Amino acid sequence: MVLLDGKKLADLRLHELSVQVSSISGRKPKLVVVRVGSDPASEIYVRKKIKNAAQVGILSEERHLNENISLQDLLRIVASYNLDPEVDGILIQLPLPKHIPTQIVIESVSPEKDVDGFHPLNLGRLAVGESCLTACTPRGIMNLLEHYQILLRGKRAVVIGRSRIVGRPISLLLDQAGCTVTVVHRDTPDSSRFNSEADILVAAAGVRGLITEKDVKLGATIIDVGIHRLDSGKLIGDVDFDRVKDKVSAITPVPGGVGPLTVCTLLENTLQAYRAKK
Ligand code: NAD
Repeated sequence: MVLLDGKKLADLRLHELSVQVSSISGRKPKLVVVRVGSDPASEIYVRKKIKNAAQVGILSEERHLNENISLQDLLRIVASYNLDPEVDGILIQLPLPKHIPTQIVIESVSPEKDVDGFHPLNLGRLAVGESCLTACTPRGIMNLLEHYQILLRGKRAVVIGRSRIVGRPISLLLDQAGCTVTVVHRDTPDSSRFNSEADILVAAAGVRGLITEKDVKLGATIIDVGIHRLDSGKLIGDVDFDRVKDKVSAITPVPGGVGPLTVCTLLENTLQAYRAKK
């Protein structure tokens, strides 16, 4: 069994990114992270993004806004970053407070600065196979599969979950890589019968311990996107790692699998957005 070490690959890619950024003379790429309210998990995620940006030499700014900000004021702030020529990437940290309609804010970000790849224009471009800013977690997963030379063409892939953040875009990317893709979701009856036929199984349901040995095919590759923090502080995924590890040929750990690549791809997207402007 091969452990798909996302942390190691992310460190490698972050190093490569720092070399590319250091070779830029003049203005460096800049990322703005907009955080609204005081969700504790968001605070940790944003800190990590800012820290990694500094590590590779990408300029960054965290714009922390009051929980009670109005939609109009938030849109005005996003619009000012859209117009700012010194800003290359804008990320709206989710979740937003309940009174703010998330979709309106996502669509207010200029598609050229949409480093999260959530804008419908970028998702649409992805759907038709055009170059675009791609959602970070799915792009990171594809980089991981490529790095470990996991054969995709002609394989059967099952994606559990169809969110626009993970499930939907990874199903498109796997399809474009030559997989025959099935997407299962919370309304799929008996999804285990699909899961257990998958050569590549991507678990992004957000249900801890959802996948056990009966759900996986012998020799499958398992990508566990789920993140759940136990009371003890330990992180686990959607896949019961200990129960499936002896049956599969490759699997991502949690933590240290998909997560580190998500942040890495965000910074790669920022550099891509910067270069596209030139
Ligand atoms: P989401 O809640 O938006 O979507 C979950 C999807 O899973 C839905 O389409 C739903 O229909 C499906 N689903 C729910 N229960 C199911 C079940 N029992 N069987 C089959 N399908 C089921 O979640 P999301 O934003 O896509 O995130 C999914 C998980 O991935 C979460 O645990 C999240 O924390 C994690 N995540 C991790 C990273 C990372 O970088 N590692 C990034 C994003 C999300």
